[in-house]
Amino acid sequence: MQAALSIDLESYWHAELLRARIHRGQADDRVEAATWPLLDLLARRGVRATFFVVGEVIAAHPDLIRAIAAAGHELGCHTYTHRPLWELDEASFEEEILRFQRVLADVAPGVQPRGFRAPTFSLSPDTAWALDVLARHGYAYDSSVFPMKTPLYGISGAPPAPYRPAPDLVNTAPDAPLMEWPMTAWRVGPLTIPVCGGFYLRVLPMPLILHGLKAAAARGPIVVYLHPWELDPGTPRVPLSMQDRFITYHNTGRAMQKRLTTLLDAFDFRPMSDVLFGETRHPSSGQN
Ligand SMILES: [Zn+2]
Repeated sequence: MQAALSIDLESYWHAELLRARIHRGQADDRVEAATWPLLDLLARRGVRATFFVVGEVIAAHPDLIRAIAAAGHELGCHTYTHRPLWELDEASFEEEILRFQRVLADVAPGVQPRGFRAPTFSLSPDTAWALDVLARHGYAYDSSVFPMKTPLYGISGAPPAPYRPAPDLVNTAPDAPLMEWPMTAWRVGPLTIPVCGGFYLRVLPMPLILHGLKAAAARGPIVVYLHPWELDPGTPRVPLSMQDRFITYHNTGRAMQKRLTTLLDAFDFRPMSDVLFGETRHPSSGQN
């Protein structure tokens, strides 16, 4: 059974339902308050993960990023500004990638990101030009496909486990330059149940999640994702509609911490690159 843990490292105000409502740079971004306890937990449990980091967070918190790299976690790209791909085109996306690479090279020289995750799972056949840009800049895998349709994102019929994607992202193409590792879903008959993390990890019953992840893991590698702000009891509550409030805040803080601990007990998580490419990087004791 192969399992990877992925952390989308961003501020609470990068979240899709909040980003238009908060003036960046005004409020404390709470990135450090949310992330240091997570790093401590992973260190205590001897777990290494993949951190998909927003470039703005690298620029604002260089010591945190260096600590993540020094602990042996994988660093991947989550764009520079966390704008979804549907707001970008090929040229502006490439500029996001270049800005990300520049700030990462400044803060953690020698760290070469191999993986990418699009904000808000915004990769679709309409934005699949992003994969060409990523291939040009040396990325080896993408993890942005949500293999079912939701009101905001997702691709109906996409595979729920790693594959080499054709431009429609549903079929496979053996010569595709990047691997795609979609969010894990549990397929039961006609149903697709997203047991992969984030909102779904906060809202679905935990026994269902564990059962679904184990069933999915019997067919291929699984990946779980979450955001540090989901674990932070101090994440500021921004006024939202009742539905958006539920999606954004339900079971954040200690309830989510408990769910993560349950998952750490149940699975032997590794960084995504290690699972995909069979490489193992050992934690370094000093600077790297
Ligand atoms: Zn994100």
